[in-house]
Amino acid sequence: MISPSSQSDSTTTPTWTVVVSRGQSRNPAKRSLEQSIADAASVLEGADVLVVPHLYDLPKGGESLEKLSELEGNLIVVSWIFPRAAHWVLDRNGVRGQFVPVAIGDADDEDEESAEPAESDVDRVADLYPRPKRQIHCIDLKAEQSLERFTEAIRGLVLGEDDSQEMTSGDASSSGETSLPIVGGQIVQVDETTSRRWYPVIDFSRCTNCMECVDFCLFGVYGVDAAETILVEQPDNCRKGCPACSRVCPENAIIFPQHKAPAIAGAETGGSEGFKIDLSKLFGAPDGGDDAIATAARERDEQLLLAGRTAVGIDEQLQRRQQDLMAQPKDDLDRLIDSLDELDL
Ligand code: SF4
Ligand code: SF4
Repeated sequence: MISPSSQSDSTTTPTWTVVVSRGQSRNPAKRSLEQSIADAASVLEGADVLVVPHLYDLPKGGESLEKLSELEGNLIVVSWIFPRAAHWVLDRNGVRGQFVPVAIGDADDEDEESAEPAESDVDRVADLYPRPKRQIHCIDLKAEQSLERFTEAIRGLVLGEDDSQEMTSGDASSSGETSLPIVGGQIVQVDETTSRRWYPVIDFSRCTNCMECVDFCLFGVYGVDAAETILVEQPDNCRKGCPACSRVCPENAIIFPQHKAPAIAGAETGGSEGFKIDLSKLFGAPDGGDDAIATAARERDEQLLLAGRTAVGIDEQLQRRQQDLMAQPKDDLDRLIDSLDELDL
């Protein structure tokens, strides 16, 4: 059901839509923050507001995704998942544009940062299939508790108090359209029933289409499209709570937005370091002294056994890649992990 909760001046031409994605919990403080942000954004001239359930849980064919897919122009997406995760969740659902993370909550780092992957000769899927020029600014609600910090950031974007306002070209503007006919100057709230989901989300600005994930996953989650490009074909086949394939992706391109380890949940990790860096060691995920490949194999086996199937362990392919991993020179983060290990905390 769609509930317009307020109406703004219909003569204004909105150029932004602020999308507020509600959290999964019923925490009243969170609900209050979300509502306050939506209310504050709705009074800004040039902004419409769309409130939807948690982005990650939205079902295909549902009202929320229908509304989101009809939006044109720039978006400001406010959600409880990391900005990179929010962007690629939208992308997989056809809501596409240029990713612009918005830094909140760090006084020394308020400028928006580019999310360009590390320089490399390797083709990324997003380079082969460029996304529209319109901007999708993503704000992480976990980053700050102050309503003012969020509303300041949104106001800065909408009212042009930020350089990025000058870059409002996109699909819509390039075709001479800048209006947002869907929400039309109102707060639109989609009260759609959702249930918690668990599936991988691919960051195509990192993905090289190497197909490692297809080979590794034994639950039929991944597939390819007509152009032989990797996609998450059967998301709900994924085993709840398991992040195994994110550990074997050579580009750290696989995100599980609800995982407790920030590196797996889509926190920025400085580019595509490769699977030799198991950031979970820094963030409390299963460790046991294993490297990323061994951990992934163990997690996959656990899921195979739970599904009544036979464990496969570290197969030949994984073994080969594990050896490649060991042969690679250490970089700064590896050295940091080693020095933390030596501290014996
Ligand atoms: S393993 Fe990673 S880089 Fe390779 S196809 Fe899968 S998501 Fe893309
Ligand atoms: S977490 Fe496991 S089941 Fe889910 S997609 Fe990855 S390998 Fe497949």
